[in-house]
Amino acid sequence: MSKKKAKITALEGAEMTSEGLSYKGVILQPIVEKCEGCERAVPFEDQKYCPSYAQPESKWKHGVCNFATHVRASVDKEGKVKVNPLKASKRAARGR
Ligand code: SF4
Repeated sequence: MSKKKAKITALEGAEMTSEGLSYKGVILQPIVEKCEGCERAVPFEDQKYCPSYAQPESKWKHGVCNFATHVRASVDKEGKVKVNPLKASKRAARGR
């Protein structure tokens, strides 16, 4: 049996408010450009939202999003953080 949590594919019960999208008592902000390709982003109306992180923009301000499924951060020899796109095959292997 898989221990993986069921993936959220729809923001059921979400409601648009003046502050943002209200989902389970949390206000979600739309995803940012860097989130494109991430499997966690869920479409709602004409935007996409992240059920894992309510404010994707501030998440990326502090570096690479640690919930991202499409990129992985690594630190090179000079101590700089590099963002590596994950290969589809690696993503599939992680699902095992
Ligand atoms: S998990 Fe991170 S990268 Fe993926 S949509 Fe959410 S904030 Fe964006």
